[in-house]
Amino acid sequence: MATTNGTTDNGLPDRKTPVPSVLPHPVRDLDVQYNKIFINNEWHSSTSSRTFPTYNPATRQKICDVDEGDKADVDRAVGAARAAFERGSPWRQVDATGRGRLLQKLADLVERERVMLATLESIDTGKPFLHAFLIDLEGCIKTLRYYAGWADKVQGRTIPVDESFVCFTRHEPIGVCGAITPWNFPLLMLVWKLAPALCCGNTLVIKPAEQAPLTSLYIGSLIKEAGFPPGVVNIVPGYGPTAGAAISSHPDIDKIAFTGSTEVGKLVQEAASKSNLKRVALELGGKNPCIVFADADLDLAVRCAHQGVFFNQGQCCTAASRVFVEEQIYQEFVKRSVEYAKKRLVGDPLDAQTEQGPQIDQEQFDKILAFIESGKKEGARLECGGSAIEDRGLFLHPTVFSEVTDNMRIAKEEIFGPVQSIMKFRSIEEVIKRANNTDYGLTAAVFTKSLDTALTVASALQSGTVWVNCYNALHAQAPFGGFKMSGNGRELGEYALAEYTEVKTVTIKVCQDNH
Ligand code: ADP
Repeated sequence: MATTNGTTDNGLPDRKTPVPSVLPHPVRDLDVQYNKIFINNEWHSSTSSRTFPTYNPATRQKICDVDEGDKADVDRAVGAARAAFERGSPWRQVDATGRGRLLQKLADLVERERVMLATLESIDTGKPFLHAFLIDLEGCIKTLRYYAGWADKVQGRTIPVDESFVCFTRHEPIGVCGAITPWNFPLLMLVWKLAPALCCGNTLVIKPAEQAPLTSLYIGSLIKEAGFPPGVVNIVPGYGPTAGAAISSHPDIDKIAFTGSTEVGKLVQEAASKSNLKRVALELGGKNPCIVFADADLDLAVRCAHQGVFFNQGQCCTAASRVFVEEQIYQEFVKRSVEYAKKRLVGDPLDAQTEQGPQIDQEQFDKILAFIESGKKEGARLECGGSAIEDRGLFLHPTVFSEVTDNMRIAKEEIFGPVQSIMKFRSIEEVIKRANNTDYGLTAAVFTKSLDTALTVASALQSGTVWVNCYNALHAQAPFGGFKMSGNGRELGEYALAEYTEVKTVTIKVCQDNH
């Protein structure tokens, strides 16, 4: 299945993921086991007794009801997380090696439950099962193992000061960490926060997105089975303005990590500063430029740009939603991109051939269609797609627009759907300026065979990540995060450890004449 040029032939970015010779099959007739609130390693009903439904976007059928947590449940979860963080608690007595061992155990359990978790992720979000299995779950397992390795290597420094002092730093856990996660990669975005937080010895209160809470809740059962003490990880499903806001404004939460829209990121930061100035890390939206120079390997660039924007139904903060193509190859690039888009297989997410499933819900679906209409009205040329697939609920035709200009809405705003906008450029200075002309700065890509061009563009772009001749190449070891309004702080890599530790300076006076 894997090809050598940066993508696979089944709609997957090439992550060098070994594709099993016998493809895994999703669990059929799945019975959801975990739909309650997870506090102190136990399952609880919501204080209000309310529940909310979660739907399968492919069939629009209800999967199950989930207990709806709100402020009262967040308070209980924070109480549990605070008690678990107390000095002398079972968790605080687990040493660094022990924390690493627990994270390895959790990784083993996620690996054991990989088919179940990929199936749950697929039915709750609509993403193809095979993509969830090969990409999302692979990323989760690697991230857990990566931070398991760091647990006993988080260390301070000895600092040379005035010689009558000994000065050193301790890198200590921050305390109770809140995590608010999105629906597009529910489990992966959770693990990006959970793994470094636990590695450094913190405790957590997590609120998964209301559209897709099931895999996060399943992780609760694995946390308990792995042997984490009660209260270390607490999971409160619920809505953003209630449960989410209770976390961001909570006076006894020390830090918050949020992935989601820029609009809600601002609310989280505001609530954090109005309550207790808790530390905030935000991973927000993007309007990511993908720049293709005339000397690029054209087929590679076309395929990466295609996967870059259509992967995960276009619902990625990393989506290649502004493709800039050099004038000489523009027509050919558009022609080949349209061929790819027309071939993209849209269908049942549980089918192994499927490359594109449904959008997450009616709200997002309607928003994407409105963007498509704006593109048509504002004068972009609709090359293919542009509409819903009739009688199929939330499924959309992969859509390609050419002759897109920078002032159009589809070139300026995050669409979060399967819509490719292709623009033309003439010079390197021009394209750098246009690529940077946005409030966002999450990711960017450049396709060229010239090292000079690649390095010039990579250093000039205002972007947290720049990919050269590849797309969506994310690794547990490499930091990820945004410039400008794409957020602050970094997830993954060694850099994320700083997000989950406080630095304490200890200075000792050496009394030289006291012997
Ligand atoms: P999207 O627009 O992609 O749905 P959101 O930013 O709305 O993304 O949601 C991301 C996460 O933020 C979800 O878990 C959601 O419930 C949560 N959320 C939404 N509103 C708020 C809020 N006011 N305070 C805290 N969290 C919120």
